[in-house]
Amino acid sequence: MPLKKLNKFRYTLRDTMAFRLTLWSAGIFTVSALGIFFILYFITTSILSKHQDQALFNEISEYSSFLSLKGLETLGTALTLEAESEGVGKCFFRIISLQGEVIFSSNMSAWDNMGISDNTLEKLQNGADYLFETKINAASGHKVRVLYGIIGSDKVLQIGESLEDYELFIALFRNIFFILMPVMIILAALAGWFMAKRAMHGVLEVTRTAVKISKGAFEQRVYAKTKGYEIEQLVMAFNAMLDYIDKLVSGMKDVTDNIAHDLRTPLTRMRGNAEMILSDGGHSPESENIAGNTIEECDRLLEMINTILDISEAETGIMKLNKDSVDISSLIYKVVDIYKYVAEEKKIIFHINVPDRLYVYADSIRISQALANLLDNALKYSFKEKDVYFNAFQKDNQICISIKDSGPGIPEKELSRIWDRLYRGDQSRSQKGLGLGLSLVKAIVKAHNGRVFVLSTEGKGSEFTICLPLDKRDKKTAS
Ligand code: ADP
Repeated sequence: MPLKKLNKFRYTLRDTMAFRLTLWSAGIFTVSALGIFFILYFITTSILSKHQDQALFNEISEYSSFLSLKGLETLGTALTLEAESEGVGKCFFRIISLQGEVIFSSNMSAWDNMGISDNTLEKLQNGADYLFETKINAASGHKVRVLYGIIGSDKVLQIGESLEDYELFIALFRNIFFILMPVMIILAALAGWFMAKRAMHGVLEVTRTAVKISKGAFEQRVYAKTKGYEIEQLVMAFNAMLDYIDKLVSGMKDVTDNIAHDLRTPLTRMRGNAEMILSDGGHSPESENIAGNTIEECDRLLEMINTILDISEAETGIMKLNKDSVDISSLIYKVVDIYKYVAEEKKIIFHINVPDRLYVYADSIRISQALANLLDNALKYSFKEKDVYFNAFQKDNQICISIKDSGPGIPEKELSRIWDRLYRGDQSRSQKGLGLGLSLVKAIVKAHNGRVFVLSTEGKGSEFTICLPLDKRDKKTAS
């Protein structure tokens, strides 16, 4: 994309690198956090289940020994005590025969749906020593881990333990994770955004400088703060490239200046010779015609050379400026006066809206020259009977003067080039001109620490505005 289009490129947040990096980091964080959660969830649940099954299994072997040592009745008493001490809703014990008859049972008031199924009974009858099952307690709605184990001949001990605590623990674990997860994703996105912004800061600075340079500010450089090795390398390479371009441009300007300077003396001499031919008389009409043309061409070239040298002087800061307090209103009327006949010819009316007592500290001759160049263009490029408007106003610490015409306007692609030396618009070639007027305006305004800019719409007209620092020395300006 050409640099001059860069600042016109409308982008949404979605197009920014910082946004994409943030999205990536938040995405990677979410996937990793989910992965870690599922692994932890799986490990925790399987460890807890194993632990619980082992505990139930140990109880079967314990009570099997108890039965052979102390008999069924004592075992029943021990199981009742155990169930009561654990809590009626926490566990239960039953001793069942292999035919499914209940021989002993602890308090089953908090348990429902805990009967042994035919299938389980069949497996135990067929020689299985123990069997685990997970049931739902219809009374409480909680899961129950049930173990059937052979503890003696024709005796199966059924131990049921409520999984309520286990379910609560897992639910808590899950809830904490799903509450914390969005908070952590937001924090990760914010951290990602902050880091991406920091990382992109250097690139943005390079872009901003490139945009300024594309508008002609060749003296701009990117300030290399510590932004990381890669960005520093980019900044250094970018600045080195700018130094090189700057050198090339000023080298080219020097060559133009030198040529202009060297041509001035021989051209003046040529013009003098042609004048002598005309003033001496006695020459053939052809010779006098040639001499006349030579004078005209020399004048044109001398004007071009003098303007180029003026621009160079103003740009390099060696132009001598006789600054004084200048009344903008009277300056504009003087310039307008010079062009009133040209305006009359084209039936153009000047509308001047300039308040009194606007003062700038400037070289009145140079500022008149700049305004004259702008007015000359406005008249030159405007159509017949299209008026020209002058405005002057104070804005902050500046006095701005604008000249607006209803001419053809300037095509957008030419807007950044009109300030270049010797540049002439494609459609302006039919008019007289050197392509130096606006370069001189810009150089003079810059030498006064001011700025000049244009707003133009093709087919509608152009408005050039010069802003100069206001004269604050004796507070003559309008408040
Ligand atoms: P010149 O007028 O001699 O061509 P300038 O430096 O004064 O050179 O202007 C450069 C170019 O800017 C012109 O060739 C023209 O294309 C464009 N331009 C300047 N002023 C106007 C204007 N008021 N209306 C339309 N185009 C303009």
